[in-house]
Amino acid sequence: MLYTSTRDKSIRVESSVAIAHGISKEGGLFVPEEIPKIGLDDISRLVNCSYIERAKEILSLYLTDFTEEEIDYCVNGAYKEGNFSSPKVAPLHTLNPNTEILELWKGPTCAFKDMALQLLPYLLTTASSKTVPDKQIVILVATSGDTGKAALEGFKDVPNTKILVFYPNDGVSPMQKLQMMTQEGENVGVCAIEGNFDDAQSGVKKIFTDKSVAKKLDDMGMMFSSANSINWGRLVPQIVYYVSAYCDMVEKKKVNLGDPINIVVPTGNFGNILAAYYAKEMGIPVKKLICASNQNDVLTDFLKTGIYNKNRDFYTTISPSMDILISSNLERLLFLLSGMDDKAVGGWMSELSADGKYQVSEDVLIKIKEYFEAGSCDDKGTKETIAKVYGETGYLCDTHTAVAISVYDDYESVTADNTPAVIASTANPFKFSASVLDAVRPGICEGMDEFDIVLGLHAETGAECPPQLENLKEKTPRFTSVCKKEDMEKVVFDMLSK
Ligand SMILES: *Cc1c(COP(=O)(O)O)cnc(C)c1O
Repeated sequence: MLYTSTRDKSIRVESSVAIAHGISKEGGLFVPEEIPKIGLDDISRLVNCSYIERAKEILSLYLTDFTEEEIDYCVNGAYKEGNFSSPKVAPLHTLNPNTEILELWKGPTCAFKDMALQLLPYLLTTASSKTVPDKQIVILVATSGDTGKAALEGFKDVPNTKILVFYPNDGVSPMQKLQMMTQEGENVGVCAIEGNFDDAQSGVKKIFTDKSVAKKLDDMGMMFSSANSINWGRLVPQIVYYVSAYCDMVEKKKVNLGDPINIVVPTGNFGNILAAYYAKEMGIPVKKLICASNQNDVLTDFLKTGIYNKNRDFYTTISPSMDILISSNLERLLFLLSGMDDKAVGGWMSELSADGKYQVSEDVLIKIKEYFEAGSCDDKGTKETIAKVYGETGYLCDTHTAVAISVYDDYESVTADNTPAVIASTANPFKFSASVLDAVRPGICEGMDEFDIVLGLHAETGAECPPQLENLKEKTPRFTSVCKKEDMEKVVFDMLSK
């Protein structure tokens, strides 16, 4: 299987090249030329397999230039016992007879990013030793909060790599900030920027695609790669958990093999829901993919109208990991739905960077409407949902998951579609303790610090704070600098020359 670029179909590379480089040189994203299929007989077999076995099987369909031993090494390392706090890695929790919550936050940093970022360092170092054996890999990350920490944990002290993370100073939760400021490891760096996530992401993309920067790095024996979800190595592990969730739905007798499910995903960059789309195209029976946004509802509007317009107010919400106006992975969907029309996709992306908007063709919009539903939920609705779900079922969900539950509730009441639903739950509620506690006991957080709030949330609900969050209290911040977005390149070279 070869990979091509969303902006230049003449490019054809193996998966290890796509993963080692992260992004194609003309700015397009790598995608497999074909989507591999799995049949109901395959699914039926996978129902009786462990998460690790399911992951190996799915990955081997996409990473055909990796040997079986290499895939075994990568998957066994990432999902080894103890690394995730659930033996199922990504377990389903029954919310009500018709709705399952897919808990994707059992990893070391308590957000769904671990699902991919525990595996990516293995994939990337395996890929780079095949394709660029003499280069040190420099991972540059822009984060809206969770990617940064998950990437730092994944790459810390991985030989022959360095990792540098930029996050928006006022755009992440106190817990997320502490997690990054206290990061351990010899090969890591963290810097806040004055700006929002899109500024951080644009800055990173600019450094990444700057030819003179690449030359300078090359002279230093280094090469950039990306741990953001523009890297195919981030997406492919995410496809696995949707396949796995379907297998678990069959195993739990929530559906009969072959019957469809709906999948609901709280998304910002369109990465997580794109992985669900790939799972569907592989053959997982899915009726609708339901895209849930917070008040930054650029995707909701796009999926309903075919017009993508980022010229709108940016809101800092209580679901900060979805505070995004430029959803970079949408590009991959457009490439697929336009019949791999690289010219059209390149055109839309140029319009996006020039005018901040574009409109897709009618036939692409028709396909979007066939597969996707979309809705949004503001902070008030998010808190109401947390309180309602907790009150009715005793289940405590985080702010991002609540956006998805709220959008799904709206969808269900408007359509009366009672297809069994899997709702992706993307973070542990203690990662966003203040908002979650304020939702279940309005006003109680007044004047409390982050760790009082953690204790308060535990006292109020009986839920346990994961130890890796609770232990942050004891740690001294190591990375406290803040830079202007114009200075990001300088920060990168300062760190690399250390
Ligand atoms: C990153 C993140 C999201 C959004 O994921 P996308 O890749 O943008 O779809 C949602 N929730 C949490 C908790 C996250 O960390």
